[in-house]
Amino acid sequence: MRAWQVVTPGPMGTGPLRAAELPVPEPGPGQVRLRVDACGVCRTDLHLAEGDLVPHRPRTVPGHEVVGRIDAIGPGVALAADADGATPPSAEPGAEGPRSAAGADIGGGLGSGAGVGVGGGAGVGVGVGVGPRGVRLGDRLGVAWLGSTDGTCVYCARGAENLCPASTYTGWDVDGGYAEYVCVRADYAYRLPAGYSDAELAPLLCAGIVGYRALRRAELPPGGRLGIYGFGASAHLAAQVAIAQGARVHVLTRSARARALALELGAASATGAYGAPPEPLDAAVLFAPVGDLVPVALAALDRGGTLSVAGIHLSDIPPLVYADHLFQERDLRSTTANTRADGAEFLAIAAEHRLAVTVSPYPLAAADQALGDLAADRVTGAAVLLP
Ligand SMILES: [Zn+2]
Ligand SMILES: [Zn+2]
Repeated sequence: MRAWQVVTPGPMGTGPLRAAELPVPEPGPGQVRLRVDACGVCRTDLHLAEGDLVPHRPRTVPGHEVVGRIDAIGPGVALAADADGATPPSAEPGAEGPRSAAGADIGGGLGSGAGVGVGGGAGVGVGVGVGPRGVRLGDRLGVAWLGSTDGTCVYCARGAENLCPASTYTGWDVDGGYAEYVCVRADYAYRLPAGYSDAELAPLLCAGIVGYRALRRAELPPGGRLGIYGFGASAHLAAQVAIAQGARVHVLTRSARARALALELGAASATGAYGAPPEPLDAAVLFAPVGDLVPVALAALDRGGTLSVAGIHLSDIPPLVYADHLFQERDLRSTTANTRADGAEFLAIAAEHRLAVTVSPYPLAAADQALGDLAADRVTGAAVLLP
């Protein structure tokens, strides 16, 4: 199969990614193999290619926003009741209607957790992706950053599997979706909402889910005033969720094109990244990987406000002045990956509120160009690789 590997991490101009012809992988126990229909290009892939994130193994295939259809099922994976492993591809089952995210809190089915069947108590259908209960060939599934956890540590036990020290990540510890096929743990894959194309679904799987977790960690009160710093793939999805839930959203970003998109999507205001929002903020999310913006965003918070940093990588934060940036109980928080419950909640919201997903498609053969464009801020919305 055709695939891309991170060979020599470094600036995109030095060609850190190389195209390769690899054997089609065989699904191991608990895994399914997907034929990849779309794979989003995330900033984290860029951090891996450029060496901001240290490689966990040589020649890894990046890509962790994968939409694909099952074409092989490994041992130990539960089959759908009417599947014998050889059924023809089927449409998304109509019975599995999306369900409200209400009540699907962290730990709502994850706490007890080890391995296959985690979350079995939830009794819910599509989108609640703590492992598709019973699969068949041809099922469309999504693959995200969190590839596996041990299910047994103190963090997993309290529903914080995103903090599991033994976790593995798609496209970092195991090969990801910049390829024609990928093998994944079935219980870490997601059912996907109907009404979106494969290309539109791909960015939901990291940009969408992690942005959603960052938004939740900002603890925006109902009807509150939210600042969003940076307006790329993740931010433009989180903003729509916040607006759908009644927030007044102020976007602060350097790109004039992104400011125009923000206003189009319903933001109350859009201004430069270092500008001031028109009113104090109850909460803010920093999506730009720019540490210089931390004190700027903290200073824009009202008393008791929270700044949530969304990225996996951030340039250095300059010294903070306690009185200006933190006193009056302002909080500064990071976001680390996501739990499967976060993913399920976000995909359920996406099923209920049709999110506008801005996609820039690239052929798989142009993955290096897509990452180069992302590095140079030439991508509008989310870049997505199509086979
Ligand atoms: Zn764990
Ligand atoms: Zn990502």
